[in-house]
Amino acid sequence: MSIDLVVRGTVVTPDAILRKGWVAIKGGAIHSVGSGEAPAAKETHDAGDAYVLPGIIDGQTHAGSYMGLPGIEPTTRSAIAGGVTTLVDMPYDNPEPLSSGAQFSAKVEAIHRYAHANVALYGTIMPGQPLDEVSQLVECGVIGFKISAFESSPTRFPRIDAAMTLDLLEALAATDLPLGLHNEDQEIVRSRVARARAAGSNGIAAHSPSRPPAAELASTAHFLELAASAGAHAHIVHISVPRGFQLVDHYARDGYRATGELCVHYLWFDPDRDGDGLGARMKVNPPIRPGQIESLWQELIDGRIAFVSSDHSSWPIDNKFTDSIFDAGAGVPGMETLLPAFFTVAKEHGADAARMTADYLAERPARFFGLWPQKGALRPGADADIAIFEEMETIWDSSRAEDGLCWSPYDGRRFAGRVVRTYLGGNLAYDGNSIVNKLGAGRFVARGASKWFQKDKAQ
Ligand SMILES: [Zn+2]
Repeated sequence: MSIDLVVRGTVVTPDAILRKGWVAIKGGAIHSVGSGEAPAAKETHDAGDAYVLPGIIDGQTHAGSYMGLPGIEPTTRSAIAGGVTTLVDMPYDNPEPLSSGAQFSAKVEAIHRYAHANVALYGTIMPGQPLDEVSQLVECGVIGFKISAFESSPTRFPRIDAAMTLDLLEALAATDLPLGLHNEDQEIVRSRVARARAAGSNGIAAHSPSRPPAAELASTAHFLELAASAGAHAHIVHISVPRGFQLVDHYARDGYRATGELCVHYLWFDPDRDGDGLGARMKVNPPIRPGQIESLWQELIDGRIAFVSSDHSSWPIDNKFTDSIFDAGAGVPGMETLLPAFFTVAKEHGADAARMTADYLAERPARFFGLWPQKGALRPGADADIAIFEEMETIWDSSRAEDGLCWSPYDGRRFAGRVVRTYLGGNLAYDGNSIVNKLGAGRFVARGASKWFQKDKAQ
């Protein structure tokens, strides 16, 4: 029984952080984990004191919003350079979203052609579409479905109305799949944006009030109630204020399947402090709001947040250079910065940053999307997807990023560490300077059997 590779370092497992630990890999899977003397192996990599983390699972990315399916290539390059070994991609590809078996097949084919990292897929439905393709997509292995209460684009990112939302929730009720919601009330947002435009407000400071917390929270509450009636898993894919997580928690405590996700930029930026410098570079929807960082961190500590993601959007910077904030595209690149940004926030708050990173960026999303125990933790039998992260003060410079976008709201920001190596299925994929795995090394990952909720509770 010969071991292919031993990786030494500070190994972060679900149970312990092993100083002078090791991970032994055989045939692309983790064979054993321990500390002290390691088994003999064909190859050894000693990462010194650096953290050996499970490969990060980014639970919310948009690889194809701009470039379409070929966007999988730069997005997964960026993933691998950021220690992200599996990304969960949203369905809103250019020119049309993933809402049929044929589109699913085309995207899986594109993954096997373009991907440097593993990719799991959300599906969606189009307004008025018959729901028979939903069960087909479930069988194909999508990890969940996503819809929006707000129309960002009639063809690529449409709005699904309440009646159809309820139908879809009922169709998914018997499954473990979440229905994710982009939670903004269309009429409130359109009215407030029109009012702000008329008043001549056009800077980033006008963005949050133009899509006020009321629009976000009312949409969240409405959806939670529809899902409770249907007995389905409601997942709010981004929440910008603590009240949203508290609404979700209220339903969860009543026994309904309800969860909320936080994107890391809500823990980093504040328009009052950063708006002048960043402008549209910090425009995301729902907006990053003034004065929320500390209370959102508290939501995390209090256990009301399911996991943390990047919501990486692959928009070129041109999309941000508009006279009015209301004409600028929403979304920011963020996959390559997810791990260092989250680790840094955790450390600044005095938390056990390595443990929290493994928990919120790997273990939780793996369980959530049915990928556990194959993914999400360094334990025997799991896929050997590994991120090595060294604590070292690093100033972020997006010109060195692998996403091909060359801009980031994190430019010039100080991170507490950086990714120095990434392994995918036991093979070196990133060596700290370059992507070294091949195009197509990433695989499509289907939803497996793990459940987020221990027992199905409803009604
Ligand atoms: Zn998103």
